Amino acid sequence: MKITQVDLIKLKRFAAGSQTPVLCRIWTDEGIYGYGEAGVSIMDFSIGSYEIMRLFAPMIIGMDPFDNDYIYRKLAGTFWAQGNGGVIMAAISAIDTALWDIKGKALNMPVCKLLGGKHRSKLRAYASQLQFGWKDPNSRNSPGDLGYLREACQKAIDDGFDAVKLDVIQKNLDGTGVDRLEMKNFIPKRIMNEVVQKMDVIRDTIGPDVDLIIENHCITSANTAIQLGQVIEDYDIMFYEEPCVPFNVDDYRRVYERVNIPLATGERTYMVAGFKPLIDSCTLQVIQPDLGNCGGLTEGRKICDYADANGITVQTHTCNTPISVAASLQFEAAIPNFIIHELHTHNTLEAVTETCIYDYQPVNGYYEVPDLPGIGNELSEKALAEATIEVIK
Ligand code: MG
Repeated sequence: MKITQVDLIKLKRFAAGSQTPVLCRIWTDEGIYGYGEAGVSIMDFSIGSYEIMRLFAPMIIGMDPFDNDYIYRKLAGTFWAQGNGGVIMAAISAIDTALWDIKGKALNMPVCKLLGGKHRSKLRAYASQLQFGWKDPNSRNSPGDLGYLREACQKAIDDGFDAVKLDVIQKNLDGTGVDRLEMKNFIPKRIMNEVVQKMDVIRDTIGPDVDLIIENHCITSANTAIQLGQVIEDYDIMFYEEPCVPFNVDDYRRVYERVNIPLATGERTYMVAGFKPLIDSCTLQVIQPDLGNCGGLTEGRKICDYADANGITVQTHTCNTPISVAASLQFEAAIPNFIIHELHTHNTLEAVTETCIYDYQPVNGYYEVPDLPGIGNELSEKALAEATIEVIK
């Protein structure tokens, strides 16, 4: 089998997520095609990956998609791909995911089978980013007040979820955003008091039996993550996500030593080499690689196996199209150390779900793992009609 053509696809921009999804569709001489997505579409960084994919496409035409590991190494070994950022790795990840999709379709098997088989047929999920509401199409303008948070948490519980995630620092109760740079230095008492009010409402609404994840989106530094963490640790938190940027393991060590909540990170980290110091530090309980920027399923598998060998669990990060969600479901079904799947509130919105032909959603907080060949989803006619498509042969 040979790769004959690479289509570069830029979807219509999602207003809710301020993101332009960028994907590739790789064709073979047997008429089989596969989809993959560059997982950096927030704030349109995917446009950079689009240009990188244009450079890579001629390098893979003529190659056998079953040589995916070699293709991954070839692309990751190009001059600037060697240690130079998630935007380049997202381009490689999109190509890699498309190759796995092709392999599955060619063998008439779901990708989880190719990865070694299902460890589970249902995947527990959590309702994520409830500071943007739950299933709220106007989430970008969410007020962020206590009533809005209570309503979002209640809606998720009513949908059957027994785990939720919120960021309680990025927005003030009056709906304005916090000064992100100042949050690296010190969190004033006024904001800390608002955090306490939010945490009271959240835990009161979800009750004692629901797992609660808190994430900081790296808005805090080690110092301010400790400041915040020592207040929220009284609310029985499942894990504390991205307390600070993942570049400096010593920052994680400081938070780990001062805050009594398990730590998680990984959506900005790529390749085994990127995860190795974090995993080796023994400060994390959960890693969160994004298959759309960590090096695809090929490198993602190696990352998660290394985590497993060190007793660390996995929740893949997804905040892109249902193509990425489908790839994650296949992957999470096939790894031994899966802990929970992240369902971003934006992935419940019609503007996002209508981009693909299948809309996989959890029922009572659990996904069924699809059994279709490949990753099990593809772009809809509507999405393709509204997209910009560039064909490279
Ligand atoms: Mg996150």
